[in-house]
Amino acid sequence: MSIYEYTPILIYSIVIAFVFGTCMGSFLNCAAWRYVNGESVLKGRSHCTSCGHELGLRDLIPVISWLASKGRCRYCGERISARYPITEVLFGIITVFCLLSFDFTVLCLRNYIFLAALFVLTLTDIDAMVIPDGCHIASLAAWVAAEPFLFEGWKNLMYYAGAGLLFGGGLLAVSLALDRAMGRDTLGGGDIKLVAVAGLYLGVIGTLFMLMIACLCGLIYNYLINKTSEKGSAFPFGPWIASASAMMLLFGQPLVDLYMALLN
Ligand SMILES: [Zn+2]
Repeated sequence: MSIYEYTPILIYSIVIAFVFGTCMGSFLNCAAWRYVNGESVLKGRSHCTSCGHELGLRDLIPVISWLASKGRCRYCGERISARYPITEVLFGIITVFCLLSFDFTVLCLRNYIFLAALFVLTLTDIDAMVIPDGCHIASLAAWVAAEPFLFEGWKNLMYYAGAGLLFGGGLLAVSLALDRAMGRDTLGGGDIKLVAVAGLYLGVIGTLFMLMIACLCGLIYNYLINKTSEKGSAFPFGPWIASASAMMLLFGQPLVDLYMALLN
């Protein structure tokens, strides 16, 4: 079954994907917050982060609840960050692009799990400069579980698995050398694991492009936009790797194809 067979089905799929994506974004936001604040990710009811009041169904509708309560808690009146509705909409859009790019396939489901993991670790890295191992484990498990359905020969498998090992191992070596040279932690271990996992999903060329985009955006942000931060202070690099990985996964294939054509 393909969403492209019939236009009404395509439009319907886009709408459903967007609504589902905003709900998923809301859940992932909550999971990230709980992880950073040391709460169980799966157990316990949702509650207001300032007064602790349990949230009802009326408070849990993505975007709409926030707009209806004018960005405040219905119980204590405390402001609720606009980050919640914004990231919910963002993940809705990501969900639509994932469906449009990969159709109703195992590949779509696998890549969606990776995108969800990237979304969560972006939030936790921004908030607390930590990348949960659970994100890597979920991405790795999805990749392994999908492989029997997507198997396209050993050469193909080695290309992607090799990219994971190559970039994970390579970056680890660079990071250890930098740590020694600068006498402090440079790249976090979470970043290295993240690049290794991204290698599995993007392959060698895709990961190279991803790293170029991530470094460029990260450096521009750190030195031009975020001037207020002290020189040499740590800044989270995970969000840049995650955003660049998502971009390459969803839109990078033409770039990789062009590069391969130029090589040949
Ligand atoms: Zn409250």
